[in-house]
This record gives sequence, C-alpha cells and structure tokens, in this order.
Amino acid sequence: VYEKGGIRKSTTSCNISIALARRGKKVLQIGCDPKHDSTFTLTGFLIPTIIDTLQVKDYHYEDVWPEDVIYKGYGGVDCVEAGGPPAGAGCGGYVVGETIKLLKELNAFYEYDIILFDVLGDVVCGGFAAPLNYVDYCIIITDNGFDALFAANRISASVREKSNTHPLRLAGLVGNRTSERDLIDKYVESCPMPVLEVLPLVEDIRISRVKGKTLFEMAEYQENLNYVFIPREIPDRELFSLPSDFYLNVNLENPEKVMLEEQNVPSLGFTVI
Ligand code: ADP
Ligand code: MG
Repeated sequence: VYEKGGIRKSTTSCNISIALARRGKKVLQIGCDPKHDSTFTLTGFLIPTIIDTLQVKDYHYEDVWPEDVIYKGYGGVDCVEAGGPPAGAGCGGYVVGETIKLLKELNAFYEYDIILFDVLGDVVCGGFAAPLNYVDYCIIITDNGFDALFAANRISASVREKSNTHPLRLAGLVGNRTSERDLIDKYVESCPMPVLEVLPLVEDIRISRVKGKTLFEMAEYQENLNYVFIPREIPDRELFSLPSDFYLNVNLENPEKVMLEEQNVPSLGFTVI
C-alpha cells in the first residue's frame, strides 16, 4: 500500500488487514513510515519500532527475537513498525531496507499468508521501493486531487520498472475520503489501471482514529456498523466495496440488500498491467 503522507494509507491498510484476518488468513502488517503510526488503530498504542529495538540491542541483529518487534493487534493481526531516524537525520528508506533484512533473518516472512507493507512512498527511493521486491501486488491510495495522482503516477512507474524483474503487479487505486472521482477517472483513462473502490469521507472513520480503533473494533459496540462487516467468505473485491456501498447507498431498512447486490460484482482477480 503506497502513497504520500496523510492520504489514508494506514486507515485502509488496518481495515484490509482485519478483513483478511477475519477470512482466516494469518496477517502481518508492516508500517514503513517514519511516523510509525501505521498499526496504531490495530494495537491502540504506538508500538516500539524496529529501529528502537535495534538501538537497545546495540544493532546486534542476532539478539533480536520475533517477540521484540512483532506485536499482536486487533483481530489477531501481527504488527511491526519500521520506524525512522530522528527528524532531519538519517534515511527513512534505509530503515525500511533494514526492517526487511531483520524480518527475513527472523524467518518471519514464512509465517504469514498475507504480509501488508504500509509505505510512505510518493518518492520511491531505493529504500521505500524495497517492499516492491517481495510483494505480489501494489495498491495505491489516492484522493481526487492532482498531488496524490501525481504521486500515484510515480509509484505506478516504479511498479512497472520493478515488474520487469519481480512477479509484481499493480492491483490498482483506492480512492479514500473523496466523494468526487472525476480526476481519478481521467487519470485511469490515460494510465489504465483498476479503480478498486472510492470511499467517501466517513465520520465514523474519523472518530475511530481518535479512539485508536478500526471500524471493525468500533462495530463491536456500535450496532449501526455491524452489518457492514459480516465475517464470511467474500470475493476480494468486496473487501473494498463493503464500506463504500454502505456509506454511499445506506439502506437502513434493508441492510442485507447492499450485501446481496454486491454479489453480482465479479471478483477483481487482481490481474493488472
Ligand atoms: P496515511 O497513513 O496515508 O498518512 P491515515 O490513514 O493516517 O493516512 O489517515 C489520515 C487521517 O484520515 C486519519 O485521521 C484517518 O482517520 C482519516 N481518514 C481516513 N479515511 C477516512 C475516511 N474515509 N473518512 C474520514 N476520515 C478518514
Ligand atoms: Mg500512515
């Protein structure tokens, strides 16, 4: 999951992670943003980062155990934060590379069905591009603005470049916190890629962040959110469509209707460029 800061990557990542965990997958979410708040709504606090732990261990990788860096989050999602150098010092991209190196040494990559990297990466330098060497799909989060789409374009160029040497594909764009999509549509006309979903501004999501929770966790005690996240096997595509359908076409009289109509949407299958 890539884009510039503040575009809603972590919110989207946490909700996707839980959705996949609910489908029985063992999920690891790796925050690759020096802001180190990717997994905040999963754990409810800012977990110590890889860099914090390495500092404590005086950079002796052999002294680091999985439980030093992997924290359990909501819904059974495992969480790692790469962290970053102090503001104005060092290289954030380098930290991402070191995180991957450490997790490989811990054999952590073989433990999971899904590993989701949440990457601050509109400037895709070597370090921030490192996750692209390991993943199968890249999802770009955007809004309907020029800046995010400009960044999306640079990211898709990086994916294209990497896909020459790695089995990497661009899954597509997710618009988050935007009800307009004219610029998104114009962009995909000239640079064809799927628009996985466009999610409007959702007050519940804004509130969930303040509470340090995801919508899934809030739904536990907020009944009106309950039926959005009925746990069951659903096509990939619906993971993205459920909240937007709910908030755009809310049908409180007959909530099941939204779910049933959605069954007609073909599974995305994630075959792109
Ligand atoms: P990033 O990880 O890209 O820096 P975040 O995921 O932290 O961005 O999101 C930034 C802010 O936007 C958070 O406070 C989050 O709760 C809020 N947000 C995300 N999606 C929505 C939405 N659909 N509606 C309202 N607020 C949202
Ligand atoms: Mg983030």
